[in-house]
Amino acid sequence: MTQQRYLYDLADGDASMKALLGGKGAGVAQMLRLGVPVPDGFTVSTAASVDTTANDGEWPAGLWEETLAALTRLEERTGRGLGDPERPLLVSVRSGAVVSMPGMMDTILNLGISDATVEALGREAGDPRFAWDSYRRFLQMYGEVVEGVPAHAYEDALTAMKRDRGAAQDTDLSTDDLRELVEVFKIVSRTHIGSDLPADPQEALRRAIDAVFRSWLNPRAGVYRRANGIPDDLGTAVNVMQMVFGNRGETSATGVCFTRNPATGAKELYGEFLLNAQGEDVVAGIRTPRPLAEMEAVLPQAYAQLLEVMGTLESYYRDMQDIEFTVEDTVLYLLQTRAGKRTAAAALKVARDLVEEGVLTREEAIGRIEPAQLDQLLHPALGDHGQTPATRGLAASPGAAVGEVVLDSDTAERRGKAGEAVVLVRWETTPDDIAGTLVAQGVLTAHGGMTSHAAVVARGMGKPCVAGASDISIDTDAKTLRIGDVTLAEGDVITLDGSTGEVFAGALELVPPQINADFAAVVGWADEVRRLGVRANADNGPDAAKAREFGAEGIGLCRTEHMFMEQDRLPAVRKMILAGDDAERATALEEILPMQQADFEAILEAMSGLPVTIRLLDPPLHEFLPSLVDQALEVQRLELTEGTHPTDLRHARALLAQIKKLTEQNPMLGTRGVRLALLHPEIPQMQVRAIARAAFAVADRGSDPRVEIMVPLVAYAEELRRMRAIIETTLEDEFDRAGRRLEIPVGTMIELPRAAVVADQIAEHADFFSFGTNDLTQTGVGISRDDAEGAFLSHYLDSDVVPDNPFSTIDVDGVGGLVELGAERGRSARPDLKLGVCGEHGGDPASIAVFERLGLDYVSCSPYRVPIARFAAAQATLE
Ligand code: ADP
Ligand code: MG
Ligand code: MG
Repeated sequence: MTQQRYLYDLADGDASMKALLGGKGAGVAQMLRLGVPVPDGFTVSTAASVDTTANDGEWPAGLWEETLAALTRLEERTGRGLGDPERPLLVSVRSGAVVSMPGMMDTILNLGISDATVEALGREAGDPRFAWDSYRRFLQMYGEVVEGVPAHAYEDALTAMKRDRGAAQDTDLSTDDLRELVEVFKIVSRTHIGSDLPADPQEALRRAIDAVFRSWLNPRAGVYRRANGIPDDLGTAVNVMQMVFGNRGETSATGVCFTRNPATGAKELYGEFLLNAQGEDVVAGIRTPRPLAEMEAVLPQAYAQLLEVMGTLESYYRDMQDIEFTVEDTVLYLLQTRAGKRTAAAALKVARDLVEEGVLTREEAIGRIEPAQLDQLLHPALGDHGQTPATRGLAASPGAAVGEVVLDSDTAERRGKAGEAVVLVRWETTPDDIAGTLVAQGVLTAHGGMTSHAAVVARGMGKPCVAGASDISIDTDAKTLRIGDVTLAEGDVITLDGSTGEVFAGALELVPPQINADFAAVVGWADEVRRLGVRANADNGPDAAKAREFGAEGIGLCRTEHMFMEQDRLPAVRKMILAGDDAERATALEEILPMQQADFEAILEAMSGLPVTIRLLDPPLHEFLPSLVDQALEVQRLELTEGTHPTDLRHARALLAQIKKLTEQNPMLGTRGVRLALLHPEIPQMQVRAIARAAFAVADRGSDPRVEIMVPLVAYAEELRRMRAIIETTLEDEFDRAGRRLEIPVGTMIELPRAAVVADQIAEHADFFSFGTNDLTQTGVGISRDDAEGAFLSHYLDSDVVPDNPFSTIDVDGVGGLVELGAERGRSARPDLKLGVCGEHGGDPASIAVFERLGLDYVSCSPYRVPIARFAAAQATLE
């Protein structure tokens, strides 16, 4: 049995060995191959850290021996020895994960310096001050990283010394000062650890490598991994590299640069350096670094070489690079190169430029962009800020909003219409809050989850929303909002970030949406590549127009209930629900019909020439009535008020009785969708008439209506058969009246597991399916979204019971399996069946990849996600 190999000399590696050597190790090895100057060294592979972790922190057999052998080889190549009092070798021990996690793990510099070697180092450099400076840096880093001594213990000692010597900067301290500081630092370490640091440099190396292994497990690295979807079991490589010194006086320097501007993507010099300093000083912010351009004057040779190296690295990696370098006594060394993190705007510009420069093909450029990042560009976002949020809720609808707190919809509506910036803050929102929501900058609620009314409405409008911020409380009488222990009055300004769920007291600066030429160009390439169609979910003319502007190829879901919920329609809708007999109901429906027709006309006009799928009424009727509690209180109030008119009281009681009658234990599984329609066929009949009349009306005005009718919540083929008969009879009646016909396909949502299983039977009566993956997830997994998010589901996510929120990214094995089954069985009965998706998953890149694999025809998502979906669909096709 051959033993596993854990150690790789730099010359043994290259860029392709990232999984084993980590990003940093593979990068440095590749630079060596490209002839870029790098310090010599070796890499302990990620496998060693994985095996050590699996072994409860014990190093696997052979690892230490291999390390010593690699060290010996390094010593031979450099002609130096670790701890050698004549020609000392100093090394850095650097963490290096496979996926870059900037600053999350630890690195120790100057290992090998000690009382035995410090003099030799000073002699060689002709600069004893430099040697003592390196020594005190080592003591601090080693103490912190290996022994867990708090950083401030050393910082305090340093500050005290600087104050005592009247030194403004570290560089103002003399050699003797630093010699003294080393002694102070040793005492600091000893006090905290209870023993001296190891005198044997090999033992120090072993402990340093071990500390880097452990730093993979530190909490901040864990948080970073979770936030960035990096698996916990990759482990980190450890790079042991000969030290080069940027702190050897005024001919030495250290710095960081990007091959392009990471904020804008512009091809220009971007970077900073510090003379006479070591690595960490640039980021630590102790001294203010100078712009890279100034390096030309002070270190001309190294500068010219650096520019050349930047070119070499960019053309090798064919991407913008983020580079760390050090100049030791005028000689340049590169210490790290990696793909530079960039803003969404920069990502697009770099992609476009690299294609124009002939470096990348369009397909490659598409593959380089993170679709979720594009979201940043489609909404106003928060600029850079160092503020701590006052509280947090669910990131219910992306984008940021600033405005004055308003606690009721009427005030929001009045002030919003007057052009004032307001944020509507409610315990929860109801249909009555629509008007206020419409004109508010954003919405904040204390209750409710990602599918709460506020969230759904806000997403549809592209309006920022933070929902379920359970830490806030509203006092409607005092007109105050309490966030934790801060109390704000109505009119005070707050800022919401619906992309993160954060809420801030006061106004933060906003960056406007940035849909520019780069965006248009790159998304245009995506359209040439993708197979999946992209439609939008939109319920009104303006949203439909917005969706079209964003490139939607039709509407995949037009919900009709939102039209019922608008303030001026609710009275008629309630009249319909409360009707005592058929005649009364018919009158109420007559009133609603022209309103629905007007809505449909606006949508069909905006989508002229493109398909518009209109879904018949879905929610249970009680959603259009006040809540049971509110109405019970209203009745009580009327009863207790002197002089209440008997008719008012009678109406209030009748309403209460009706609400009681309609209130269900599980409304989600109750009388809704097709069930409601079969129970009250006059409702779908009215809707179908409105659809037909709207189509004829817009056709008369020269538009090209392409309407499709969709039936929600079908479980049984018989439900759809009957519903289709009702729809077709009504359409025939309308066609007769109009004296002309229209082609109107009729299809169904597949959003119940039973429907997926019997999709072949259902397909007999359907021209198309649209998978309603929101409800299919609720019913397929058997969890109620509003109850799960913010409760057990958060716990499941934190403790990795489930990899992703199944409401954001489709549960591939379960719900994805139901979609697959529904698609296969549906097509087996009807090969030409059109298949779409209209759940929120339709705008999620990871889910879109699944729908592409399942061969669906289109996805439908909120207008604001259409560009992301177009892009993600292209990536899915390319994969
Ligand atoms: P991080 O991953 O946090 O950037 P690094 O391992 O890159 O950590 O090291 C931290 C700093 O130390 C960087 O500025 C790096 O350039 C510098 N550094 C690391 N190794 C050496 C070395 N062998 N010689 C000089 N500077 C080094
Ligand atoms: Mg680094
Ligand atoms: Mg549904």
